[in-house]
Amino acid sequence: GLTLGILGGGQLAQMLALAALPLGVRTLVLEPDPQAPARLCAEHLRAPYTDPAGLARLAGCDAVTLEFENVPLEALAALEGRVPLRPGGALLARSKHRAREKEALRAAGVATAPWVTVEAEGDLAGALAAVGGEGLLKTSELGYDGKGQLRVGSDAELRAAWDALGRVPCVLEGRVPFVRELSLAVARTAAGAVACGPLIENTHRSGILRTSVFPAAAPEGTQALAREAARAVAEAWGLEGLLTAEFFQLPGGELLANEVAPRVHNSGHLTQDGGGVSQFEAQVRAVLGLDLGDWAPLLPCAMVNVVGTPDGRAPDWAGIGALPGTRVHLYHKAPRPGRKLGHVNLVAPDVGTLRERLTRLEELIP
Ligand code: ATP
Ligand code: MG
Ligand code: MG
Repeated sequence: GLTLGILGGGQLAQMLALAALPLGVRTLVLEPDPQAPARLCAEHLRAPYTDPAGLARLAGCDAVTLEFENVPLEALAALEGRVPLRPGGALLARSKHRAREKEALRAAGVATAPWVTVEAEGDLAGALAAVGGEGLLKTSELGYDGKGQLRVGSDAELRAAWDALGRVPCVLEGRVPFVRELSLAVARTAAGAVACGPLIENTHRSGILRTSVFPAAAPEGTQALAREAARAVAEAWGLEGLLTAEFFQLPGGELLANEVAPRVHNSGHLTQDGGGVSQFEAQVRAVLGLDLGDWAPLLPCAMVNVVGTPDGRAPDWAGIGALPGTRVHLYHKAPRPGRKLGHVNLVAPDVGTLRERLTRLEELIP
């Protein structure tokens, strides 16, 4: 059998490990957190990401992938050349840094929101006007779930946001008047085979993903646009592995790329229960150079995230269990406000039934 190394041991590693096992693939996870979700279903190398002994174990795997973008680049540099590393350090360095990411998207011919870098006090003057007068200031690194970004509508607000974010390197993006948010994953093997996943529609609440739905209710031709953009990134960046792109759709139907992640993505979790190959299996397959195919779900499906609430209110698990087509996925994490604790997938025989059940499911999840 094959062994896959994974940098990071969060819920994405948990679900990658669960998808790998039936393919005959064992997983080794390098992750310092003793309580990390993947500890229960993969061999857990409990050490810092840069630990030489841990990295030596990963170097003995058939391939190494990642589930977490904030792995230090030194860890990837230590593995490069010793084991197939997918994605590699150069790709991660781009995707984990918003300014580099946007430059590299533009170089690949993929449109984004207007943006400027704000890296020093002197960059503030004129920045907001340059992106359209209303925008979001985002830290270039370490932001996720809407953390590390603030909406700004005036120069005074921009200045306050720059202070509040700690005067670290940022990008200022123009606010996009999108009609919907979409995502799509692309996988590419080292041999150059490329395949795309389904087009998924996403809604957010307080900067955190709330629901994902397949099929996306987007105009005809949108999937082709998303695939074209994702493929362009995969080819231009020399992707080996799987990458997910987030898009804004404008009123005229055009797509702007928001950001990309070189891995499975929260919006793709619905592929676990839609009847097709899941995004997790797709990443395992892409990284190990196995056949890819298209991993679109076979049935309409959706996902609702279970996120810790300030009052600690739990979902109505009995109600969720009684709703047809639901399946619960928990991450074995201690509850904390704003923390992703699990998700509920939903499947239905047709789009109308999916919409009805999704409305009911959302009422059961605070
Ligand atoms: P993730 O958890 O997806 O990595 P993140 O913290 O990196 O999140 P973004 O994806 O940049 O954050 O933004 C989170 C959400 O905020 C977006 O999905 C979108 O709903 C909203 N948003 C971000 N940038 C813009 C923008 N330029 N215009 C309008 N809305 C935006
Ligand atoms: Mg992000
Ligand atoms: Mg995002």
